[in-house]
Amino acid sequence: MTKEKVIIIGSGPAGLTAALYTARADLRPLVISGNQLGGQISITSEVENYPGFPDGATGPELIEKIQKQAEKFGTRVLIDEVTEVDLRGGPPFRLKTHAESYETEGLIIASGSSPRRLGVPGEEQLIGRGVSFCATCDGFFFRGKDVVVIGGGDSALEEGLFLTKFATRVRVIHRRDELRAGETLKKRAAANDKVSFIWDSVVEEVRGNGKVEGVRIKNVKTGAASELQTDGVFIFVGHYPNSELFKGQLTMDDHGYLIADRLMMTSVPGVFAAGEIQDPVFRQMASSVGQGCAAAISLERWLAARE
Ligand code: NAP
Repeated sequence: MTKEKVIIIGSGPAGLTAALYTARADLRPLVISGNQLGGQISITSEVENYPGFPDGATGPELIEKIQKQAEKFGTRVLIDEVTEVDLRGGPPFRLKTHAESYETEGLIIASGSSPRRLGVPGEEQLIGRGVSFCATCDGFFFRGKDVVVIGGGDSALEEGLFLTKFATRVRVIHRRDELRAGETLKKRAAANDKVSFIWDSVVEEVRGNGKVEGVRIKNVKTGAASELQTDGVFIFVGHYPNSELFKGQLTMDDHGYLIADRLMMTSVPGVFAAGEIQDPVFRQMASSVGQGCAAAISLERWLAARE
């Protein structure tokens, strides 16, 4: 059993910013990375709206800088995953990872969210065989090929535009006839010859034998079904919070997002939350960074008041 003062679950912008602030308060935080060091931003190709970077930057570049800055002040980043938490009767709160058991006086949960699935036949079986949730990770494999993108939000357009670097054609399949994405991305997509839209349509099946060969879609207005041949299916239909571990221990909303107060404290005193695990609304790198900072300051004050 290892005893810690501050543990931070998650290594995305919220977790690493919380680490930077608690490290500078001399609390020697331990960040437990989760299955993806850097979180979702580390697989984002281009970030154009993070303040201070007028020319944009890649997700990995930004996250590497924040990690370096946090480590400079004494943060330790552990590549491991939390498998169990016991918040009852704490502090200290008890955690287990694959490798070790911990007790901690204060906890910041920044475990983020994960891409939502469509839940249609073929999707699960063909992940890694043409079905993808990350253009930055897999786009390269679609050089000279045809792909479809599912969704009408910022992610769908941003990732779809990224895919035009490789694919010959990118068809965006959206369930309505109006995009949810912001104006800049809409304009960029409209101006790109490789991008086209299939409106009012949902994917009912991903087809393929060993690899993606096409999708069966349905027009939700007319009910007409059709088949499209394609090599890749990139799905960007939103996210769900990674809060499974905390069920029954922390208050959540109906969708599983943790409920935190103005000071970022959850329903258990001493347990704070930051970033997309508690934010279904803003979901920006800048807002996650701000919430990580706030959670860290609150935890520092909470620990000081107890001592
Ligand atoms: P999102 O905004 O929630 O969009 C999800 C899209 O998927 C929507 O168009 C939605 O359709 C569609 N959808 C949801 N469930 C579906 C289903 N079962 N079948 C078919 N389509 C479905 O998610 P996001 O695009 O990942 O963006 C999340 C947040 O990150 C947003 O706040 C966004 O602004 C932000 N973000 C920002 C940037 C940027 O600023 N550059 C880039 C990426 C993400 P409806 O429109 O009909 O609901």
